[in-house]
Amino acid sequence: MRDFSRQKNQTAPYIVRAATLISMVPEQKPIDNGALLIQPTDKGNLITAVDNYNLLKRESYQKVIDLGPVTIAPGLINAHTHLEISHLAGMTVGGQGFVPWLRSLVPHLTLPPDNKALDRALQEMRSSGTVFAADMAARHANHLARFLKKKDFAHWLMVQHFGFAAPGNDKTMPPAMAENLNPELANSENFCRAGHAFYSTDATTLQAAKNWNRKQQRPFALHLAESSGENELIHDGRGELADFFRAADILPSNFQAPGCSPITYAENLQLLDESTLAIHCVEIDQRDIETLARHRVNVCLCPRSNAFIGVNRAPWEKLNKNSVNLCLGTDSLTSNHDLNLWHELEFLLTEKNSHMDLETGLKMLTVNPAQALAIDTDFGTLETGKKALWSVVPDVFL
Ligand SMILES: [Zn+2]
Repeated sequence: MRDFSRQKNQTAPYIVRAATLISMVPEQKPIDNGALLIQPTDKGNLITAVDNYNLLKRESYQKVIDLGPVTIAPGLINAHTHLEISHLAGMTVGGQGFVPWLRSLVPHLTLPPDNKALDRALQEMRSSGTVFAADMAARHANHLARFLKKKDFAHWLMVQHFGFAAPGNDKTMPPAMAENLNPELANSENFCRAGHAFYSTDATTLQAAKNWNRKQQRPFALHLAESSGENELIHDGRGELADFFRAADILPSNFQAPGCSPITYAENLQLLDESTLAIHCVEIDQRDIETLARHRVNVCLCPRSNAFIGVNRAPWEKLNKNSVNLCLGTDSLTSNHDLNLWHELEFLLTEKNSHMDLETGLKMLTVNPAQALAIDTDFGTLETGKKALWSVVPDVFL
């Protein structure tokens, strides 16, 4: 889709028209012959009115961009991806479970980032209607920050904490990352701290990251309960995943298993609140779901990534029934075939035994992640005051 909203050197308001417009504003029905009145400003192109085309046109004489017989919805939000490893697509083992996948990924992580692969990945997101990404970065965070700024793509750069810092070290950030982190990036308005996972990262490091984000009012993301091995490790310190991280000298030999579920552990560490984004939440039971709901935690499902790796699928119907704010993410190209969020939604809706409807699914790509990521003043719905960024709903959903 040509991104008309990015037209340069335009100052006059204009109208964008589509056969159907889904605003995602609560209680608002789809608008037939819908239109957006758009005002270019120095903060980008903003929506100044949303209505039936004939009603909008009656009051004005603006230039009209007619998108034709399509249904438009708000621009999509990818709540979880790792762009920096896009060049590792095709190098991992799928379908055999989490540890075989990790084992195939880790040796390649030292390869430098590749701008061609980044370009392709970003282009794929943009062309499928994604307008914002919560991108989790690690060793190449500075590179990603420069890349995303240059490409003028809206994002959170969630810089991931990883490792069990040695006693006495600055536990707010693992030393290697602290050295590499460009001060310009750390002061950037797109920057937030994130946690990798309990099996790879010290609990006090995760708490410090969460507290930093809390003070800055930024979202905190953490991979949580992705595989049964993670639950086993947190519950009793054993299993294939524990063996893998011990052998890699990441999980300390004196690691004390908390003896509970990852969700309960996160609750005990006070990591759960309405600005936390728990990624995956595959291995959870009803008690965990109630814990997530009680703390108003946002959950990012990555169903195709889970299927690619060969772990179970998250209980998304139960999470939804318990009013957990659900988002969708593609995760990275090392555990997915593409970064197209429509494919993610199609997979979720058509998965065997899935009982989710399209309206709920559309929320997971728009209003829900906008709220979870604290970007709902600009994104998530097509309404006055928000950025004029939309997506075209593929025919397969209509
Ligand atoms: Zn991830």
